Amino acid sequence: MPSEAFSARLPETDRTRHRRLREQGSLERADLDAILDAGFVCHLGVVVEGRPLVVPTVYGRDERQLYVHGSVASRSLAGDLPVCVTVTHIDGLVLARSVFEHGVNYRSAVIHGDARKVTDPEEKLEGLRRLTEHATPGQWSYARRPNRKELAATTLLALSLEEASVKIRTGAPDDGDGPDAELGLWAGVLPLTSVWGEPVADPALPSDTAVPGHIARRAGTRHG
Ligand SMILES: Cc1cc2nc3c(=O)[nH]c(=O)nc-3n(C[C@H](O)[C@H](O)[C@H](O)COP(=O)(O)OP(=O)(O)OC[C@H]3O[C@@H](n4cnc5c(N)ncnc54)[C@H](O)[C@@H]3O)c2cc1C
Repeated sequence: MPSEAFSARLPETDRTRHRRLREQGSLERADLDAILDAGFVCHLGVVVEGRPLVVPTVYGRDERQLYVHGSVASRSLAGDLPVCVTVTHIDGLVLARSVFEHGVNYRSAVIHGDARKVTDPEEKLEGLRRLTEHATPGQWSYARRPNRKELAATTLLALSLEEASVKIRTGAPDDGDGPDAELGLWAGVLPLTSVWGEPVADPALPSDTAVPGHIARRAGTRHG
């Protein structure tokens, strides 16, 4: 696998070239990285038996690849297949004067490529570590790691981050300077944020089991 860094600009390919809402597109790889780092759930799109299937699933990443995992029985994880992965963050509803101009403030990324089934045991474990740490930093060292049987029951797919596109919408509705501004209606943005709550202990735990610091510290912090 090539180890040189990707270019700071995302390549424009036939698949990634924005055709609509081009002004929302970004070619900065830093924007892609920020979107991927802000989330841990993606939608994996794959063609199964000739039909599209899009499944939500958690992901992790390194500098060059995105990792998704699941049961060896998952049809969406058959591997060595063309896939398309999206990651979306919703930042607010854009409420315009006209229904036509309503929209969403968002950050989203679409990654195109051929998923590769990871078979090397070391790489598989490292991919699973990245996936675990991406969702919950500190958890790989805290929880019991997968044993041989669990590893055998798990598929890990790797997808290159080379061919990807980004779109970002921010700001107010677009009809503030059009004829509909005369309607006298309220218009603006209703922001949306996700915040981690207080940890809820498993009732099966002994009552004196402390919440580990890496979990407790996230309460009240923003996600996304
Ligand atoms: C939460 C949310 C809600 C949206 N709601 C609507 C809606 O109701 N109606 C609507 O028309 N559009 C909506 N969009 C924008 C939508 O995602 C598409 O960008 C837009 O519809 C253009 O689609 P297209 O098929 O013409 O894409 P094209 O421009 O033909 O797509 C070409 C390539 O551009 C890239 N691309 C397209 N969209 C995105 C994206 N969002 N993020 C990153 N890369 C992308 C892909 O690589 C794709 O292969 C929404 C986006 C988000 C994130």
